[in-house]
Amino acid sequence: MFNNLSEKLDKALHVLKGHGSITEVNVAETLKEVRRALLDADVNFKIAKEFTNTVKEKALGQNVLTSLQPGQLMVKLVKDELTELMGGDAEGLNLSGTPSIILMSGLQGSGKTTFSGKLANFLKNKKTKKPLLVACDVYRPAAVDQLHVVGDQINVEVYSDKGNTDPVAIAKAGIAHAKANGHNVVIIDTAGRLAVDEAMMTEIANIRDAIQPQETLFVVDAMTGQDAVNTAKAFNDVLNFDGVILTKLDGDTRGGAAISIKSVVNKPIKFIGTGEKMEAIDVFYPSRMADRILGMGDVVSLVERAQEQFDEDEARKLQKKIAKNQFGFDDFLKQIQQIKKMGNMKDLMGMIPGAGKMMKDIDIDDDAFKGIEAIIHSMTLQERTNPSIINASRKKRIGKGSGTSVQEVNQLLKQFDQMSKMMKMMQGGKGKAMMQAMQG
Ligand code: GDP
Repeated sequence: MFNNLSEKLDKALHVLKGHGSITEVNVAETLKEVRRALLDADVNFKIAKEFTNTVKEKALGQNVLTSLQPGQLMVKLVKDELTELMGGDAEGLNLSGTPSIILMSGLQGSGKTTFSGKLANFLKNKKTKKPLLVACDVYRPAAVDQLHVVGDQINVEVYSDKGNTDPVAIAKAGIAHAKANGHNVVIIDTAGRLAVDEAMMTEIANIRDAIQPQETLFVVDAMTGQDAVNTAKAFNDVLNFDGVILTKLDGDTRGGAAISIKSVVNKPIKFIGTGEKMEAIDVFYPSRMADRILGMGDVVSLVERAQEQFDEDEARKLQKKIAKNQFGFDDFLKQIQQIKKMGNMKDLMGMIPGAGKMMKDIDIDDDAFKGIEAIIHSMTLQERTNPSIINASRKKRIGKGSGTSVQEVNQLLKQFDQMSKMMKMMQGGKGKAMMQAMQG
């Protein structure tokens, strides 16, 4: 996410590192580079200019008062300004109303259907919510099918009425169905078009007026840069929506949309989509995003994602197994699957401070665990629970079965052995001592 922008900002801010104090000259030099980085990331020209002007004023004004190094001061000012530009504080969803009605809008291909599913799943995981998805695309039967596929995947009911060509009627019937069946959130997926067109706007506005949703959300593909901002403006002029959903922030997004959209439409970004999987959704926190843009990582979001996947019962079982020396490859496999559920690996690495920069040229993808999983899948049940029985001929067989080499099997066995020993040590109350030893 935003690798290019992060790198350029990092370079720009480095200019001040060697300087003892802030001067008009070095501030101007730094901010020229910052502005160039923002423009390259497809931030609107006017916004980039205002941004650097504000930072400049603050930098020159604060100079005497602060004990910070010029480099640190500039990083702080840029971070604060980025946060402000992206919306300041995070804004949640308005979930009042029984049921709460959420209307999705956006162009075709923006990720509306996928996001409707992600949001339903996100709310369902909050335990107190029982969402219903409603399919209101009356033009593309495939879109209705797609929503059903998504619903099946996350175990959320989908209301549709394929013969019906009146989206307002379907939306109303969907809400009635929700009321009758105890759903307390209704998420309505609507038809998009490839480009902004009047008929689509009228249709969505009609649905909105008829059902009076608590939230009208506008979904937009972040990869489209300035176009995303223009589309947002066109939708907002007609719908006066409540919030923006930025999708596809996992790709090589330049970042311009995330930075500019709030100040153009004056509506908060509420969520971001970071992948095709149902779990790839994050609440949008401007300050955490600013950290990520500046290459400072986002440990808080990383920990939260881990917590979401964390299952207390499983963890307790695992602890017992480790204590009894029964941790096997099946458990290991489960751990890998949990990590994979947290999202795409490169994205996760980007949340670790400094790691994004280090890893930018390394190609890690979701297949990072493929070899390991293949090896484990080629083991018999007995081998998985008791790896010590894996002798030379078994190794050969496992290598063959998994399409890997005996060396690779050996390597995994060795790593597994080290990991088991370490876990045992951590369990035995020696963890603290070990951590201290590691920190030197
Ligand atoms: P709709 O036409 O607006 O309903 O868009 P879809 O939900 O069908 O999404 C269009 C395509 O974008 C699909 O292939 C999705 O898998 C993909 N997509 C949606 N959200 C994301 C995201 O956050 N990241 C990535 N990489 N792909 C996404």
